[in-house]
Amino acid sequence: MCKERAQEIVIISTRRKVSNGDTMKYITILGSTGSIGTQTLDVVRSNKDIKVIALGAGSNIERLEQQIREFKPEVVSVWEEEKAKQLANNIKDLNTKVLCGMEGLMEISTIEKVEIVVTAIVGMIGIRPTISAILAGKHIALANKETLVTAGHIIMPLAKEKNVKILPVDSEHSAIFQCLNGENEKEIDKILLTASGGPFRGFTREQMKNVQVEHALKHPNWSMGRKITIDSSTMVNKGLEVIEAKWLFDVDFDNIEVVVQPQSVIHSMVQFIDGAIMAQLGTPDMKLPIQYALYYPERRVLGGDRLDFSTLGQLTFEKPDMENFRGLKLAYEAGRKGGNVPTIFNAANEKAVQLFLDRQIAYLDIPDIIEASMSTIAFRNNPSVEEILLTEQETYQFIKERWN
Ligand code: NDP
Ligand code: MG
Repeated sequence: MCKERAQEIVIISTRRKVSNGDTMKYITILGSTGSIGTQTLDVVRSNKDIKVIALGAGSNIERLEQQIREFKPEVVSVWEEEKAKQLANNIKDLNTKVLCGMEGLMEISTIEKVEIVVTAIVGMIGIRPTISAILAGKHIALANKETLVTAGHIIMPLAKEKNVKILPVDSEHSAIFQCLNGENEKEIDKILLTASGGPFRGFTREQMKNVQVEHALKHPNWSMGRKITIDSSTMVNKGLEVIEAKWLFDVDFDNIEVVVQPQSVIHSMVQFIDGAIMAQLGTPDMKLPIQYALYYPERRVLGGDRLDFSTLGQLTFEKPDMENFRGLKLAYEAGRKGGNVPTIFNAANEKAVQLFLDRQIAYLDIPDIIEASMSTIAFRNNPSVEEILLTEQETYQFIKERWN
């Protein structure tokens, strides 16, 4: 099924080329049914000059069908073949084509007329579609940090070669990107990456022992997908973001400092060589970084709450607790070692979070699994995509043998 459909798409995309003077922005969203995906569609809905050409999802075909009926994409892709067939049957009355699997994801990432691919898929499954999109010359609005963490050494040079922009959607990286607007990246002294500290800020390891899934899924400031919410609680998310920042802004790990800012008002800061610090502030709303990435360098009107300094009260700052939140410390270690170690870090975390959400391991097993994986799986320097995926499998196998 996947193959036949894939051929049809090539025909669609060559038939309708972008005409000169066409001001519509054509986009593909990978992970449209998730938290970032649905907020991207909110941004599309409130702007009249973005056309969704393709959507990709994992298994939530009910939500995807609603999106198809509203946004009328030409093509969609669903990960599971059975679900794709079911969806194709449910939307027989429409002209939208349905693809599936990795082939489908890669196909919708490379449609000729698409200008920007929003990578809002979760996990390192995003690597291959992202690379395909760059090879096809698409700008990337990047939310899917796991891809950059594991394959940044491939993606960043490739994007440069293909003259493709990697536009950060992650709020901290968007903040840094905004602070760097009009600045010279060579004049950065350090990046001050802010962190809320998550729901367990101030907890000791003893207090974290009994953390259950429901506790960890309650983030104080942001409403996000399940995996990133757990990652925020362990501070692994901040660790992934440190590595993401290294690749996006070409800054050494010694020059990336995490600052806990519990109110999530300062989304991140840049300190320059003359000591000046630029910060981006606002209410926590992912639609801002999403819209900024889609329209960069233009700013568009965006509804929603504004920061009110008269009621804000105070902004507070703390040092991150790397002893009790080992995920962050291990991320720095993985980033500094380089090679396939960030992949081991990320893959171990992806698997551990899944096991925790399935209630098969305890909360504190998450950093233990990451640490054990990092000290067991063989080092590979400058890994290719195949070696990254092999490292992922080796890590999963190790965890399966030791923890399942
Ligand atoms: P969600 O879990 O809410 O959504 C994940 C999306 O990925 C869903 O659409 C899901 O589809 C899709 N997906 C999962 N597996 C596959 C697959 N194999 N093939 C195709 N699609 C798949 O995650 P978030 O939106 O929270 O996060 C997405 C990415 O953005 C993550 O990398 C996260 O770290 C990053 N990010 C998120 C932020 C947020 O505020 N949420 C902030 C900053 C970064 P389905 O639901 O149909 O299974
Ligand atoms: Mg973030």
